[in-house]
This record gives sequence, C-alpha cells and structure tokens, in this order.
Amino acid sequence: RLAQGMTRTRRLLNTDIRDLFKAEGRLVDEELLDEIFAILIQTDMGAGPATQIKDRIARDFRGRIVHTEDILKDIREELASLMQQDDEPIKMAAEGPTVILVVGVNGAGKTTTIAKLTRWFIDQGNSVVLGAGDTFRAAATEQLTIWAERLGATIIKGEQGTDPASVVFRAVDEGLKANADVIIIDTAGRLQTQKNLMTELEKMRRVIGKKIEDGPHEVLLVLDATAGQNGISQAKGFSEAAQCTGIVLTKLDGTAKGGVVVPIRKAFELPVKFIGVGEKPEDLTRFDTNTFCDALFA
Ligand code: GDP
Repeated sequence: RLAQGMTRTRRLLNTDIRDLFKAEGRLVDEELLDEIFAILIQTDMGAGPATQIKDRIARDFRGRIVHTEDILKDIREELASLMQQDDEPIKMAAEGPTVILVVGVNGAGKTTTIAKLTRWFIDQGNSVVLGAGDTFRAAATEQLTIWAERLGATIIKGEQGTDPASVVFRAVDEGLKANADVIIIDTAGRLQTQKNLMTELEKMRRVIGKKIEDGPHEVLLVLDATAGQNGISQAKGFSEAAQCTGIVLTKLDGTAKGGVVVPIRKAFELPVKFIGVGEKPEDLTRFDTNTFCDALFA
C-alpha cells in the first residue's frame, strides 16, 4: 500500500533517474549530476538536501562509468540519513486509556486521519472512543459520527458551539467508564489568534490531565504534504500552541513531492508517525524511515 500510495514520488526518484542511464551505464560528470539534482528538487526535499545527495554521488562516482543501481543506492542511503528520526511508535498509556489529541489546520485531513487512526487501532484489537472536540464545524462532527458508526467506535459529541473542553471531559469519562484502550480527540482547526487556540488547547489538556494524570499521551499534528511552505508556517502555530509530539503527513498519494518529509522533519523537529496515502480509512501507514525509503525505490 505504501509503495502504491507513493507512486508519483517513486516515479520521479526511480523511473526518471533510471531513464538517465543506458544499459551500458553512464559517465558521472557535471551534466549527469545536474540532471539528478533537477529530479531530486522536484520531490520538494529542498535545495540543501538535494545538494547533499548530489555531492555524495560526486564524491563516490565522479569520472567513473556507473549503473543506475549504484546511483539509486547512494540516493536511498543519503535520503534515509536526511530523514532519520526516532521511529518510535505511538506512546501508549502504561495502564488505562491512551489519550491522543489531534490538531491541525482545517482541510489538512484531520477528520479523515482520525477515521484512519480509529481503524488502525481497532485492527490491532483496541477499543476506541472518539471525542468530537471541533464543536465549531458541525460538518466535522457529522463526518466523524459516520466514521465512528462504520468503524465501530463510540463517539462523544456536543451541540454546535459548545465548549470543546466539555466534550473532552465527557469523552475521557466515557473512555474510563468503558475501559477503552484509546481515546482520540478532534480539535478545532480554524486559524484564529494563536492565543485563543492556546487557551483552548490548554483547557483541553487540563481536563484530560485531571482524569488521566499522564495524558494526553500523544498530540498529533496533521499536516498536508501538498500545502507547501505556507502550510508549514501555518501549522507551526498549531505545533507550538499544542506542544505536539508527532506528525501525521497526509495526501502523499496525490503528489510527487514525497521528499517534503525532509524539510518537514527539519521545520518541526518532530517525528513523522504516520502517513496518509489516500482517502479511505485503510489508507494510513506507520512511518518509519527505512520502510519509507524502501517504498520509494521498490
Ligand atoms: P479536515 O478539514 O482537516 O478535517 O480535513 P478532511 O479530513 O475533511 O480532509 C479534507 C480532504 O482531504 C477530504 O476530501 C479528504 O478526503 C482528503 N484527504 C485527507 N487525507 C487524505 C490523503 O491522505 N490522501 C488523499 N488523497 N486525500 C486525503
């Protein structure tokens, strides 16, 4: 699924680079290095990382006739080191329900990601309670309700405009009563002043912390891989206000810009925990550096 979801990025990194070579190989000179650089740049990894990969290829092979596999191996290894992160899975509560807050700008794929996470946890035998904490968007609550019913999760919601913290309170309460394994909480994604956002998230944290001392266990930032630099700076506000612990990168299927993981890792200094590669609940995979790089070169 990962390799399939990453088709467009894979095509650049794999097919397009292969196309630079003839069966008998090719001399590594400035022309080839520039052609490789141009392809790397198209994945949105950024000029710095693309230069680093190009320099490595130059160092290893300049003046020699090489085959595609030599170059692809270099790219894969350098990319893996650029993306390197602590690939730890979701931090689960030592006992009792694990509480996960999900934050992000509207449109990034928050609702869909919550459905995907629900499915992921349920597939592993966990019971899930959802808290529809985005009480400003009736549509988000409705959508989440449909997913909850379809996937077999309990959902706690409030009337439009109710205090999100009260929904959080009830969701945590329900999770504890039902002895649920995981409680996933949606949050508002509108970009108002950062101070309001901070106050709201702080309140949510307090409400959770009162009932579950070490919660929330994870605060996941949902980020649209296709949103570009502007998306990154918008999401920074959320990430700082919410004290995020990890990133879910969505919409990697629709883009050839899978290299964007590199600048995102750098901008947020947070591990990428999951990636979204489609619109369906099953279109989510755990991110780990090696599997991701393998998928790109599969
Ligand atoms: P929210 O406003 O952040 O809650 O965003 P939604 O979950 O409603 O998603 C916005 C749009 O992006 C919807 O059309 C989703 O189907 C779509 N979407 C979300 N995640 C992905 C993904 O990983 N891949 C693709 N192709 N579409 C996605």
